[in-house]
Amino acid sequence: MAMDLWLKEMQLEGEGVAMSYKIKETLLRKQTQYQDMAIVDAEVFGRMLILDGIVQTTVKDEFVYHEMIAHIPLFTHPNPKKVLVVGGGDGGAIREILKHKSVEKAVLCEIDKDVVDACKKYLPEISCALDDPRCEVFIGDGIKYVKEHKNEFDVIIVDSTDPFSIAEGLFGGNFYRDIYEALTEDGIFVAQTETPFFLPDTVRKVFNDAKSIFPITKLFMAAIPTYPGGYWSFTVGSKKYDPTQVDITKIPEMDTKYYTPEVHKACFVLPKYIKQVIGE
Ligand code: SAM
Repeated sequence: MAMDLWLKEMQLEGEGVAMSYKIKETLLRKQTQYQDMAIVDAEVFGRMLILDGIVQTTVKDEFVYHEMIAHIPLFTHPNPKKVLVVGGGDGGAIREILKHKSVEKAVLCEIDKDVVDACKKYLPEISCALDDPRCEVFIGDGIKYVKEHKNEFDVIIVDSTDPFSIAEGLFGGNFYRDIYEALTEDGIFVAQTETPFFLPDTVRKVFNDAKSIFPITKLFMAAIPTYPGGYWSFTVGSKKYDPTQVDITKIPEMDTKYYTPEVHKACFVLPKYIKQVIGE
């Protein structure tokens, strides 16, 4: 019997918006210590990682998110040597970070070992750099890890799930204060900060929290087909280097599909409604 299987992702809990994907096969379904995890093969987007019913990454569009979350801060800092990723257990951010020759060490602090193991097995094109000798995988809570490290990282990337449950503390003032302390004196951080269209209050709060701590705070955008609203925000907090003032003529050629020096410049140009969200 032929059967169509569709995954329905509620984009806004209880508010009448959902996205559906036709599924060819479910490769893994597991309740981990922290979340419900699935890896499925979808007709259009290929293999996907799903946590608690929310699409985290897909082999078809992951390049947008991972290139932008990594290359914006790493091409803003003139000499990034030590980088921390909080969350990001799929390994996509690490893969992009390690394209930078200046990086001597990239630490991945992911709370859920099952996510790392599943991505290594089912999503090798995303997780391929996790076994690189420059990468250290630490399994633990990013909030605790950041609190325990001072003046150590040139770049910190917060590649987290949405601001609920285990990831709730990764959005907001106390955590950003600890990130500030964990960064070196000219360090820079970036976090994925949700959809300004559907969650303007979240974006505003997170941006203002970062702004109250970092001398330079900027919002940039990228178009990610599988994320709610399709147009996703990232917040940068920097102690010294302004990501909008990078001399893009000096950015070297890199093997990317979304990020270019021109995109680096353009992604900080915000539509009026998003400027209003962050009070600019
Ligand atoms: N790109 C994705 C997105 O925005 O949908 C995020 C992908 S990544 C898989 C998110 C990871 O953050 C998950 O694997 C989750 O286990 C991890 N995570 C959530 N809270 C965490 C915490 N407190 N410390 C470390 N990792 C955490």
